[in-house]
Amino acid sequence: MHDLIALEEDLVCQECNGLGKIIDHDGRADICDGCYGLGYVRGVYRAKPLSRSKVKLRRALLGTFGGLGVFYAVFLFFLIRYSIGPVITLAVLLAGHLVAVTFLVLYILYRAMHDN
Ligand SMILES: [Zn+2]
Repeated sequence: MHDLIALEEDLVCQECNGLGKIIDHDGRADICDGCYGLGYVRGVYRAKPLSRSKVKLRRALLGTFGGLGVFYAVFLFFLIRYSIGPVITLAVLLAGHLVAVTFLVLYILYRAMHDN
């Protein structure tokens, strides 16, 4: 019975400190995602949700790592199939990572400009 009471307890929202509003990166007040403007949440064991931009960023990271995985697979295939010199091997590896990092930076910049 005590566990149930603890779960039903209203707690001050950790994301907005009970204000019900958060200031977004543009400096505007927005309704808190964590408590939907209530200022409190129910239950001790409520998991903190990821904000939408974080979910998108995580997706971009996963996409980048997925792309890198494909890159490594193709790279290894050519490395085994054809004997590539160490200079070209290094150049291809550097280029691959540069492309991945560039993609990620461009994506983050794009999101930063278009997110509101
Ligand atoms: Zn809140």
